[in-house]
Amino acid sequence: MSFITISQALTSLTSLFQAAALSKPSLQAEHIIAAVTGIPRLELHLNRNLVLTSEQLSEIKQKAERRAEHEPLQYILGETEFYGARILVTPDVLIPRPETEYLVDWVASEYSEEQTLLDLGTGSGCIAIALGLIFPNMIIEAADISAQALETARKNAEINCVKINFHCSDLFEELRNKYQIIISNPPYISTQEYQELDREIRDYEPQEALLAGEGGLYYYRRILAEAKDYLLPGGRIYLEIGAQQGKAIKKIAENYGWQKIEIRSDLSGCDRYVRIGN
Ligand code: GLN
Repeated sequence: MSFITISQALTSLTSLFQAAALSKPSLQAEHIIAAVTGIPRLELHLNRNLVLTSEQLSEIKQKAERRAEHEPLQYILGETEFYGARILVTPDVLIPRPETEYLVDWVASEYSEEQTLLDLGTGSGCIAIALGLIFPNMIIEAADISAQALETARKNAEINCVKINFHCSDLFEELRNKYQIIISNPPYISTQEYQELDREIRDYEPQEALLAGEGGLYYYRRILAEAKDYLLPGGRIYLEIGAQQGKAIKKIAENYGWQKIEIRSDLSGCDRYVRIGN
């Protein structure tokens, strides 16, 4: 195993990942080798004849074996990006998804500074942090039921220099304030869909961040039943939703007396976001 170059490592990881039926095997190989060597991914080929140290080699091997078992790259590398911010991730938090960035955009397009905002089920803290970076003067609170998730969210707020007040709370339970904006990407996978999820998700991401009972509507019902007491007059709720849930959520919202319900689709044309309130 001695005198392995970057180029040889790239080849060997790529074929390992190909055999494991991973998509974009060479890109994933590059990410792992870049993370371990500290060489930017796009400069790896310029350094292809560089010989890896035995420590680098064993770390690359370890990480590659985890990836070949379909563990998500983000958990292996311990971080990802959301809205341009560096976000640390552990198996206690959901990996931030690119489609969630639109929820941030929606809020960003409708507000200016000096609002108060609550991010419910903050997980890694990605939504609250992105909004904090856009609106440095916004007063932001974030809640999650998981103390472990909050530990990561706190670190993420710190490394991105965003001030957020965190609460360990089952939705609104421990909260006492009122907000202009309530935002949430709660768990919304139904029991049946959960069985059909990709093994990368099902075997590695926290079940409690995904699963939301029969129909996947459990958290929306609770949020829409309770949010009135936590929203300032004229306030709005922004939610990410499942592709099949638009109609059901509109109905739930109407049943709880909410007006002005707007549903928007994601880039693939599926219902994905809802805004509720004036
Ligand atoms: N709010 C976090 C995110 O959007 C966590 C979501 C969750 O755990 N359901 O990534």
